[in-house]
Amino acid sequence: MMNACVSKQPENETGSIDQQVDALLSKMTIEEKVGQMNQYNGFYDATGPAPSEGGAKIKYEHLRKGMVGSFLNVRGAEQVRALQKIAVEETRLGIPLIFGLDVIHGHKTLAPIPLGEAASWDLEAIRQSARMAAVEASAIGINWTFAPMVDISRDARWGRVMEGAGEDPYLGAKIGVARVKGFQGDDLAANNTIAACAKHFAGYGFAEAGRDYNTVDVGTSTLYNIIFPPFKAAIQEADVKTVMNAFNILNGVPATGSTFLQRDILKDEWGFEGFVLSDWGSVMEMIPHGFAADLNEAAMHAANAGSDMDMESHAYVNHLVDLVKEGKVSEDKIDDAVRRILKVKYELGLFDDPYRYCDEAREKEMLYHEDHQKTVLDMARKSIVLLKNEGAILPFAKAQKKIAVIGALADDKTSPLGSWRIGSDDGTAFSVLEGLKEKTSNFTYAKGADVVTGDVNFVLELNENTTDKSGFNEAIRLAKASEVVVMVLGEHGFHSGEARSRTNIGLPGVQQELLEEVYKVNKNVVLVLMNGRPLALPWAADNIPAIVETWQLGSQTGNAIADVLFGEYNPSGKLPMSFPRSVGQCPIYYNKYSTGRPVNVEGNVFWSHYIDESNDPLFAFGHGLSYTDFEYADLKIDDSDPSGIKVSVVVKNNGKVAGEEVTQLYIHDKVASVARPIKELKGFEKFMLEPGSSKTVSFTLSNAELGFYDNQGEFIVEPGMFDVMVGTSSIKGLTGSFELK
Ligand code: BGC
Repeated sequence: MMNACVSKQPENETGSIDQQVDALLSKMTIEEKVGQMNQYNGFYDATGPAPSEGGAKIKYEHLRKGMVGSFLNVRGAEQVRALQKIAVEETRLGIPLIFGLDVIHGHKTLAPIPLGEAASWDLEAIRQSARMAAVEASAIGINWTFAPMVDISRDARWGRVMEGAGEDPYLGAKIGVARVKGFQGDDLAANNTIAACAKHFAGYGFAEAGRDYNTVDVGTSTLYNIIFPPFKAAIQEADVKTVMNAFNILNGVPATGSTFLQRDILKDEWGFEGFVLSDWGSVMEMIPHGFAADLNEAAMHAANAGSDMDMESHAYVNHLVDLVKEGKVSEDKIDDAVRRILKVKYELGLFDDPYRYCDEAREKEMLYHEDHQKTVLDMARKSIVLLKNEGAILPFAKAQKKIAVIGALADDKTSPLGSWRIGSDDGTAFSVLEGLKEKTSNFTYAKGADVVTGDVNFVLELNENTTDKSGFNEAIRLAKASEVVVMVLGEHGFHSGEARSRTNIGLPGVQQELLEEVYKVNKNVVLVLMNGRPLALPWAADNIPAIVETWQLGSQTGNAIADVLFGEYNPSGKLPMSFPRSVGQCPIYYNKYSTGRPVNVEGNVFWSHYIDESNDPLFAFGHGLSYTDFEYADLKIDDSDPSGIKVSVVVKNNGKVAGEEVTQLYIHDKVASVARPIKELKGFEKFMLEPGSSKTVSFTLSNAELGFYDNQGEFIVEPGMFDVMVGTSSIKGLTGSFELK
């Protein structure tokens, strides 16, 4: 919608977008060009600092001089309009700003955390969820999200696993593509679509020991076969408009200063035409990394390496003009960066109407929209993973016997929103208790124990966990007096996320003790887990009859969980990340290599093992149960078709209720010039089956699935024998083999 008070429009060129960009670029001074490469942190809302105060004053002055290309963290149509108006009306060329924000799993209405969504293996639902997030965020003036995070990670200690799609590059690439398509929509120039950003390029998920920002040292095979694929797919299959680089050092070079990553791979090899944004202060961080002597040198390295926009290091705005004048950064490189940035602004339609995202009426209408609640309820139900259900204790019958609900998280309306929820308000989630109330009145509730103590907020250190057991007695009393117990245990919403690494990945505080005490008096326990990372809970896995993984499901948490507990939704999620038995197994992942000592021959202590723990995960990648039974039969492999290897299997619903299954296909290239993992996911399909019915699920394996990157980074396909497994998880399926000729 056009804003009535606009008196001046930005310089509008004619011709194709590339021609318009070039025409505009030819009019720009070096100062104006560098300005486009500068992103400042904005002011969260109308209560932020006045234009005349401190750092804000400088930012406003710079804005008026055309020295700012973008703001992040500005929220609200009104706030965005005010800044945009300065850019458009007061700067010489009137180039509009682009406004970015971390819209990670919804904006006000929250979807499950991304790791939870990934557990749905439902690409269409994930696309819809990102679409919903874009519709809400664009209604407050935002036209760019710093999502999706497509970092693969195998280490549950790393707090940011909550923000990704788990450990597998094939699944991660598909999900990354779905998310980008959801955010960017079919028409980027529409006012409810936003530019996406694949992050963090590259290797950030491989931080040593799972400690955030830590060193990353990986070989070519892991880099090309595991870390790169989701980025490449986001660019080549979904046309992602921006990429964020990373804080970490990768093989000795900070990602932000890496020409190899940003120019050679991203722009030259993959043909990426959008722009690269630095991570927050990552240009500056090259100084403590020991890669740049000062901010001037950091700016030089980053710009030369292909970081097009500087987020909050203030390195470009203060040094880049001089660096160009001194010949240390060529103007060609600056032009390339600015061209990329302007192009995205044109594609977003900002030159046609810079206020297209500023519409207070739409803002009012769209936030917490009823349709969005439906979208996130659907997504939340699909994200739940039934890990264990011994004796079919679940689902509860309608005329359920008496339930004792125990655990602070059952009555929590904030933790289920998870981390990275910059736009949303605390207390807006449906709690588990609220969800259960919709199904039955036959339950009692006791907290038992807190998850954390004190006033919890984003900056609080969460390691001072509660030791208070004064609530145990009441919990035990209720458990004794009930037929079943639902225990809602897990992590606080800020136990995961950025800078939230943990070395202990069990239940925080005294929750484990509470679980064991309650179990002593009532064995019919359903453990509902709420957490932002895989947890190591071997005791629970061995003893508790039913375990439901619910991650942090967002706004509709309680309703989704109640639907699953009462069988109104048949769980269909599958783990996108292995759950370890012990933190000592981390990193643990299914697509590992075989050691030379794979077999536990009796009496042979020289095999590759731990003397105090099994090698196996607690719950495997791809695992997830249903209230019905799926039977797999009739694996067929046909290698006669030149277009690819055809693999099919018949899946039958042998149970009494309808359900969705995710059929997964894994391969193993038995002998190759670079050793291949023992299993690699190369296909999956999610589908609904009515009781008694069956379906033939077919896959075609072509070169894209059968090849791999060698140690020179070349994609090669080698003939030879392959094993194949098709089934219900990474450890259960029908097996066969074929020869690739
Ligand atoms: C994170 C990014 C995020 C940025 C802006 C950084 O600390 O690593 O993922 O987009 O902050 O909020």
